Amino acid sequence: MLGRDRPELTTDHATPPPSRHAKAGSTLRLTVSFMLVVVIAFVAVESWRTWRDYRAAFASARDSVTNLARATAQHAEDTIRQVDVLTAGLCERVEGDGLQNMDVKRIHNLLVQQSKIMPQLHGLFIYGPDGQWIVTDKEVTPEMANNADRDYFQYHRTHEDRQVRIGQVVESRSTHDLIIPISRRLNNPDGSFAGVLLGTVKVSYFVDYYGDFRIDDKGALVLALRDGTILVRRPFIAQVVGKSLAGSEIFKTYLPSANTGTAQIKAVVDDTERLYGYRALTTYPLVVEAGLSRDSIIAPWRRDLLKNGLVLVFLILVLSTFGLIVLNQLRQRMAMEREIRQAHQTMRDMALTDSLTGLGNRRRLDAALADEIRLARRQGSALSLIMLDVDHFKRYNDRYGHAAGDDCLHAVGQAIRQAVKRPGDLAVRYGGEEFTVLLPNTDGAGAAEVAGQILQAIRSLQLAHSGHPLGYVTASAGIATAHPVTDDVMPATLLKAADTCLYQAKQQGRNRWCSAGAP
Ligand code: GH3
Ligand code: MG
Ligand code: MG
Repeated sequence: MLGRDRPELTTDHATPPPSRHAKAGSTLRLTVSFMLVVVIAFVAVESWRTWRDYRAAFASARDSVTNLARATAQHAEDTIRQVDVLTAGLCERVEGDGLQNMDVKRIHNLLVQQSKIMPQLHGLFIYGPDGQWIVTDKEVTPEMANNADRDYFQYHRTHEDRQVRIGQVVESRSTHDLIIPISRRLNNPDGSFAGVLLGTVKVSYFVDYYGDFRIDDKGALVLALRDGTILVRRPFIAQVVGKSLAGSEIFKTYLPSANTGTAQIKAVVDDTERLYGYRALTTYPLVVEAGLSRDSIIAPWRRDLLKNGLVLVFLILVLSTFGLIVLNQLRQRMAMEREIRQAHQTMRDMALTDSLTGLGNRRRLDAALADEIRLARRQGSALSLIMLDVDHFKRYNDRYGHAAGDDCLHAVGQAIRQAVKRPGDLAVRYGGEEFTVLLPNTDGAGAAEVAGQILQAIRSLQLAHSGHPLGYVTASAGIATAHPVTDDVMPATLLKAADTCLYQAKQQGRNRWCSAGAP
């Protein structure tokens, strides 16, 4: 009978059915998953936004440094070109007149006039073939001054090219200012070396111009010769002028492959990480670099990150708190439902249980009997019912009292419960000292065997009963067996049949069983 789909009639209903458990568990899981998904979505969107802003900050900085490099390159080119054009004109004139025939006073006036027009000019100088100062834009030309030791002078004496030459920064002998020398070779009509024409540009002219740009404190603007020698730098530190950038990444790696571009590198001068825009001039051997520090580029982004991070943490906290409250309420509600279900089950069990013996009561039998008849009809199986009655129980009560009678009934109930072994069998106290055992899927022979075992179990209790001819408690049983698939069986008819057999057993001397119906 194991595994049959008979109605649920056991008293063990403390735990709710698994499907309810699963449903409650899945609601909880769903709630937690929803919260997790929302939190993950928040974090993912915010991370994506942060990454996008980070890239945008660098893209915008790249534009800025490119524009800055473009502007400073243009400025440097214009500044040098003006001196280039001026010295080209002067050169043509001086060479045309010949250095020996030159009208020194007129040329001096011309130089004074020109240097007044051009704010970048520190001075204009013409040196003879021995380095002697011949004429300058200064009021007084020192008689003994000689520039033959200067680098540009020695270069032009030994090189025949006629291009303008931009030299390293030097300190002016006349004013002690830092100046960039821009020089040309002067030739005699036969092509031999006649001297040098020099225009000097003030470093301060560039420093002032670079100072006007609005860049952060750690930003840098550099003007250098193509070989890497620094001419001007913002922030301006005199010791840095003349230093070489030849070993820097931009000169080593970037400039050989492209004249313009951007590079994120650590500066060799001050170890600051910057995003640089660089540009090598095509007309003059000059390079400009414009750099914004990484810190200044990401500072606004970092502020935003902090602000948004705090808002995000706050949101997640609010959401988690809200979620935990909802979860808690859900749990409480589920616990309450469980308690109500258990209370209902307990009440139902109580209503179907006999309090004296702990067995089912008549109500339980009534409910089960109708179901079992239907089931047996559907399955084509036999159904047996045993009705038991304690022998001479009135006498027992009379001899030992009602309370002892109750104890006796309790003991008889336990004996019946233990004798009925199959899980599908149902033993109930039918009323008074009568018990009924319903045996699904059991024929007459099987029922007779169970009845015999029950009666033996009661006898084995050896409960003393002085009013009984045998001296101990016994019971009689009537067995009715039906085949609902062929017989038209009703609960009442089965009970009646068992009762009739019980009566027969009593008639035949008690302490025995009688049966009716098909075996
Ligand atoms: P028989 O062998 O013919 O069955 O005789 P009997 O005395 O057992 O039969 P009867 O039906 O005349 O007596 C049943 C008695 O069972 C009557 C009543 O005193 C007693 N009884 C019924 N219910 C209870 C109960 O709950 N507790 C106790 N102690 N006695 C009960
Ligand atoms: Mg009776
Ligand atoms: Mg009796």
